Amino acid sequence: MLGLMQDWPLLLHRIIDHAAIQHGTREVVSRAVEDGGLRRRSYVEIRERALRVAKRLQWQGMRHGDRVATLAWNTDRHLELWYGISGIGAITHTVNPRLFPDQIAWIINHAGDRLLFLDLTFVAMIEQLQEKLPSIERYVILTDAAHMPQTTLKGAVAYEDWLAEADADFAWLAFDENTAAGLCYTSGTTGGPKGVLYSHRSNVLHAMTWAAPDYLNLSSRDTVMPVVPLFHANSWSLAYSAPMTGAKLVMPGAKLDGASLYELLEGEGVTMTAAVPTVWLGLLQHLEATGGKLSTLKRVVIGGSACPRAMTEAFERKYGVTVSHAWGMTEMSPLGSFCSVKPVYEHLEGEALYDLKVKQGHPGFTVEFRLTDDAGRDLPWDGKTFGRLKMRGPAVARAYFKREDEPILDEQGFFDTGDVGTIDPAGYMQITDRSKDVIKSGGEWISSIDLENLAVGHPDVAEAAVIGVAHPKWDERPLLVIVPKPGRRPGKEEMLAFMTGKIAKWWLPDDVVLVEAIPHTATGKIQKTALREMFRDYRLPG
Ligand code: AMP
Repeated sequence: MLGLMQDWPLLLHRIIDHAAIQHGTREVVSRAVEDGGLRRRSYVEIRERALRVAKRLQWQGMRHGDRVATLAWNTDRHLELWYGISGIGAITHTVNPRLFPDQIAWIINHAGDRLLFLDLTFVAMIEQLQEKLPSIERYVILTDAAHMPQTTLKGAVAYEDWLAEADADFAWLAFDENTAAGLCYTSGTTGGPKGVLYSHRSNVLHAMTWAAPDYLNLSSRDTVMPVVPLFHANSWSLAYSAPMTGAKLVMPGAKLDGASLYELLEGEGVTMTAAVPTVWLGLLQHLEATGGKLSTLKRVVIGGSACPRAMTEAFERKYGVTVSHAWGMTEMSPLGSFCSVKPVYEHLEGEALYDLKVKQGHPGFTVEFRLTDDAGRDLPWDGKTFGRLKMRGPAVARAYFKREDEPILDEQGFFDTGDVGTIDPAGYMQITDRSKDVIKSGGEWISSIDLENLAVGHPDVAEAAVIGVAHPKWDERPLLVIVPKPGRRPGKEEMLAFMTGKIAKWWLPDDVVLVEAIPHTATGKIQKTALREMFRDYRLPG
């Protein structure tokens, strides 16, 4: 027997409708890409403009299932495009501008995008690439007539002129909640990039799950600044979960340096923000250099790569801001776990609390964890045994775009994340490594992430990365690569002395080298493949 409740498909435009009706005067403040000035709109205006986007896209010939690409920073325009595109059943393909131009061409072609909306920042790059983008019928530049550049891009038009051709007299289309809404390619550290195709239903459920108090903890009284880009895995749901709850949004545009972010945090009264650790490194350095304080910020969510303990301590101890460590991946929409304190750990304080806070945390409802060995046998949740982390849920991918016949789930329907970690009896997960980055020494595993976290706790270290290098006896041994803080030169003996006693002795790196910069991927993670390449001819001492 079926229940007798209403059929109300979980469609994304219902979110912006709700924001406009219930929280209509709440603002979306954006730093303009043109001149860095601030632009203010209300949720009522964002919804109206999204409806105009939808209507204008239909005139442009866009239909259900068509892919429309964006190459854009976090702004109000990008946000209204998202809602407008998915509101006609078309698919927003968020292209990551930090990819190499050839990768950008590859994914646009693979996606078969028909239109490309791009910020001014990217016009020159796309002009160079346009011959390799045969599927793009027209380029819309996210600016107004006054700032429109001279360009060779096909059919180029200023977004505001394009949008002015439609009014908001339009009704969202009706369709199945499983309709595709967004497409995002993984950074592709192995093999080619793979397209993850989100649906309306998966994005709505994901936003509802993670908005709750143990996770993003959003309410209509918050002011949320998503520094994590819309082009990187759904901006960790914030483009949906913030309007869903009525939080004010602050969109930082193209300026992600410490000083620019600080100006927005203080000027707009931001209470909650989220980004990868490298962004927060910039903000903390700015605060240290200027003696700035964070007078309104209450919570910062840090994820995308492991949040160093020293960063959590700096935010909490020096600035009184609570850090939540989060973990996820593109394939998971992207959030998978959050490190908030459950009652079982409420008694923890001081160092013991920071030991908990370095963990990646526990999953919200709609994400199930599984821990197995290489043969797929379940491993104990004892907080010690490392294994493959696998995930299942309604916002986890079951296949990649145009590769539907390649199975990516195990026999129980779990997706192997490629991460290695432990799960403790209270359900907290801790990543020890990517399966391909763990250092295999004498048949045992050493976690490169643990070593990196420890090394960045040294006062002279700005950034640290650890890779395994070949060793005749042990197979692999750890090499610690450090970017020192300006004017500092921490030595090998000093670093090893600092780390001794905090980890097993056989985990201590065999060598320490200083470099000017560590290579990063397009999503801000340490690029271990490039680092291994840099040290290909390196030989360990002795
Ligand atoms: P992406 O799909 O580009 O977001 O990359 C996902 C991968 O980033 C995960 O599989 C992890 O290896 C890594 N990652 C994300 N968040 C964290 C975190 N908090 N700690 C450690 N690794 C993380």
